[in-house]
Amino acid sequence: MRFTGLRRAIHALVMGPPGSGKGTVSTRIRRDFDMHHISSGDLLRSGIMNNAKHATMAKEYIDTGKLVPDGVMVSLVLSQLKNIPSYTSWVLDGFPRTLFQAESLYHGERIDTVINLDVPFDTIMERLSGRWTHLSSGRVYNEGFNPPHKPGFDDLTGEPLVQRDDDKPETIHQRQKTYVEQTQPLLDFFEEKLLLHSFSGTETDTIYPHILEYLKTLHKTQEKSEKF
Ligand code: AMP
Repeated sequence: MRFTGLRRAIHALVMGPPGSGKGTVSTRIRRDFDMHHISSGDLLRSGIMNNAKHATMAKEYIDTGKLVPDGVMVSLVLSQLKNIPSYTSWVLDGFPRTLFQAESLYHGERIDTVINLDVPFDTIMERLSGRWTHLSSGRVYNEGFNPPHKPGFDDLTGEPLVQRDDDKPETIHQRQKTYVEQTQPLLDFFEEKLLLHSFSGTETDTIYPHILEYLKTLHKTQEKSEKF
């Protein structure tokens, strides 16, 4: 069932360490609430596939688990958000990842909520190192808990799956380090603004129902505040 017909658009961020399930959670939110979904990682990867201007240098950062420079990221993501009509709700995942990005976004756009996925690092390591991706669609499989019907091939197209360069073990360690040093401090930034809502667990399937309930309540609150 979809929760549509909102009068005031909702702007949500999904945060969490790499591999915590931000993409899956955001896709479910888009499905259940008819929201526009923007993923900074997907924007960069599709830029690379289409040889966009920023893409060659971005690839070097992505492949080594480092953050793409703030200037590139802020203009890439904010220009996408500006294209979304004001009555459309959106969910943004993977951005912001630095304090500079957070401040630029906070001053440029209204944010209604920040959903933080609090997933233990051990669980994440297990997940990322078994992750295989169908590049052209972004569909993701996992050897352990979400395997494709035929190992190594996409269920829908039958095309081969690849392991993202940044899902290789040495890059995963670097991505976790980058997260702890540069992105985790943003949780305090959003906590201070009273926007942070954390959801803990090891499986998206058990975390998501709590997010769903929370967002339904948020939608009702927004509708009520609209009447006054
Ligand atoms: P993701 O798919 O969100 O895990 O992003 C994959 C990679 O893209 C990250 O490891 C970074 O190298 C880069 N990236 C994505 N979003 C950002 C961001 N907001 N700032 C800097 N780099 C980013």
